[in-house]
Amino acid sequence: MARLLIIGCGGVAQVAISKCCQNSDVFEEIMIASRTVSKCEAMKEKLQGTTKTVIKTAQIDADDVDALTKLIKDYAPDAVLNVALPYQDLTIMDACLAAGVDYIDTANYEPEDTDDPQWRAIYEKRCKDLGFSAYFDYSWQWAYEDKFKNAGLTALLGTGFDPGVTSVFAAYAKKHYFDEIHTIDILDCNGGDHGYPFATNFNPEINLREVSAPGSYMENGKWVEIPAMSIKREYDFDGVGKKDMYLLHHEEIEALGRNMPEVKRIRFFMTFGQSYLTHMNCLENVGMLSTTPINFNGQEIVPIQFLKALLPDPASLGPRTVGKTNIGCIFTGIKDGKERSIYIYNVCDHQECYKEVGSQAISYTTGVPAMIGAMMVVTGQWKNPGVFTTDEFDPDPYMEALNKWGLPWQVVENPVLVD
Ligand code: NDP
Repeated sequence: MARLLIIGCGGVAQVAISKCCQNSDVFEEIMIASRTVSKCEAMKEKLQGTTKTVIKTAQIDADDVDALTKLIKDYAPDAVLNVALPYQDLTIMDACLAAGVDYIDTANYEPEDTDDPQWRAIYEKRCKDLGFSAYFDYSWQWAYEDKFKNAGLTALLGTGFDPGVTSVFAAYAKKHYFDEIHTIDILDCNGGDHGYPFATNFNPEINLREVSAPGSYMENGKWVEIPAMSIKREYDFDGVGKKDMYLLHHEEIEALGRNMPEVKRIRFFMTFGQSYLTHMNCLENVGMLSTTPINFNGQEIVPIQFLKALLPDPASLGPRTVGKTNIGCIFTGIKDGKERSIYIYNVCDHQECYKEVGSQAISYTTGVPAMIGAMMVVTGQWKNPGVFTTDEFDPDPYMEALNKWGLPWQVVENPVLVD
């Protein structure tokens, strides 16, 4: 029925590709295009013969808009799924516009070079105007609204788990459980153990930038920023047990804050073990998380990129990671004049993911919603001209698809709240 061009072939992409191949009724054909074509060919080799989906591969540098536009025009897909890095969001959106094709991604734009003076001037103004200082934000992609609208094309932003499913949970809670939502706490717990003293579960550069940034939350429509890791809570997670979690800045807060202005407070918490935090602090203190190039023995290197080369590839963690993830949202508000609170969450087992698609649960919980988001767009269930996040469409078909495609969720009334 549909033809999808998938850009990137890392940890998340490999799950999205596997799930598209399980869903051949929708994805009749896919093309895997990435910087390192051998990874695309290895995926094709692994999957063809197990699926009715026809798989093609291509080498592409997604920073090159002209080359990418040509590839999209030649392959003529129904949509492009960007599971490369957030650095490529804008060039891939440009190429989609030039080729007249819908666009889907899992993470909002951030620049690779945060020292670029042109970007920095805009960033510093944004920090002052909005009050949060993370490198990533939606303004760059929301600025494409008119271009996509005028072209009659859909851009679906952030269809991973968080952001992605968490915002669909918010839309579902609003539609079915509340007249008014007052607070949203998004809780991301990874109870998995990969046995390494330090590794990241998705791209190390993106992960460490996110986690080392100051935390922030939204209260009464305004950002409140706090030093990184300075708000800590303990929570007892179903399927995992008690874990320490820390308040982080996270991109869905920005979208939910804009699209559900009636919500009085939106926070995001993620669990971290002590070993992860100790390593991260140490690496930060010695400058290894810096994105500013330094000269080393006559060669320019970016410290965080050098660190990435030393750390385990997240896509290789699958066989050794045991335990579960629990990601979801706690909502409080009013229904029929009475106070109500609910918790919607998914529990996912690392080893079950590995058995099914050869990946750990972080890649799985991102790659499955990436496939589902692409399915919503190519089947026309989520198709409006413009730029949208996942809280802006009917949540019901997406929620059904989560149950069907490996991320079943549950709704618990009166959960323990986070103070
Ligand atoms: P990886 O680093 O494992 O994979 C990235 C892939 O993109 C690699 O195959 C890489 O190629 C390719 N790539 C990088 N630059 C280019 C380029 N210029 N042109 C073409 N291909 C390129 O990352 P992950 O799979 O861990 O993450 C993928 C995305 O998912 C990221 O945007 C991340 O932020 C997002 N994410 C979202 C989550 C959510 O819940 N919403 C959670 C986790 C991740 P090469 O093989 O050559 O390096």
